[in-house]
Amino acid sequence: MIRRRFARSAGCLAAAATWLLLAVDVARAQESAATRSAATLPTTAPTTAAATTTASSPTIGSSTPPIGAPIGATVLFDGEKTDGWTTRDGKPCTWKVLEDESMVAGGGDIISKELFGDVQLHVEFWLPKFPPNVTGQARGNSGVYLQGRYEIQILDTYGLPAEKHGCGAIYGKKKPKESACTPPETWQSYDIKFKAPKFDEDGNKTKSARVSVIHNGVTIHDDVEIDGPTRAGMQEEKPGPAPVMLQDHGNPVRFRNIYAIPMKPEPGDNRGGSKPPTTRPAAVRPAL
Ligand code: MG
Repeated sequence: MIRRRFARSAGCLAAAATWLLLAVDVARAQESAATRSAATLPTTAPTTAAATTTASSPTIGSSTPPIGAPIGATVLFDGEKTDGWTTRDGKPCTWKVLEDESMVAGGGDIISKELFGDVQLHVEFWLPKFPPNVTGQARGNSGVYLQGRYEIQILDTYGLPAEKHGCGAIYGKKKPKESACTPPETWQSYDIKFKAPKFDEDGNKTKSARVSVIHNGVTIHDDVEIDGPTRAGMQEEKPGPAPVMLQDHGNPVRFRNIYAIPMKPEPGDNRGGSKPPTTRPAAVRPAL
């Protein structure tokens, strides 16, 4: 408990800075990240979350420090309980909370009880280490599905070129600008700015979803259009808010510090799907 409080306190300013970057100018984060050369990647990295809880800034190649939820955020997982989540069919969450205050995938995908439209989302994740003979999509597979439809892939692709099925990819649709992965058994983070698709009054899509993603401090997607759901999502596109889904792909991937900040629709955004009546009820004149 003390460690968690300390971590949240220490991470408060960092969290505010991260969200400010997302809201004001994602490109600035990319510019900052560009100063970190891949050639400077450490050859060793901390192997436990506890080893990093007092770190003051992220370093590529080592764990991202935990960043607690800023004031006003919707906390989806705080290290203690999974009661903000259910299985895809609405049953109690099957994922277990571990001693390191993470929850680990197991028993199927889970979805948030809270529903979201346009939203900023912070997620920290940890991938197990597999032997070299375990390859491809079998290495620490999971994913963050925005609105249960659009997967930001989670996978151990450390040291590999960016690829549209690798970590950070909009699964099967767009590879990240660069690979920002840290090694397995380190904590990593996604800071996501998501704009939900928009619909007209008849429920026809007028704007596709868009997403920006910062992975371990590196902008890997900058306002990218997503033309439709990715594979293995929970539902087709339709108006209205929808849950965040975390994928269980059979690997014990861990998550911690998950929180969301809903965003207000921008002027002109028609959320659609609720066609108003074509005739108005007659005005009732007060008796003179
Ligand atoms: Mg996946």
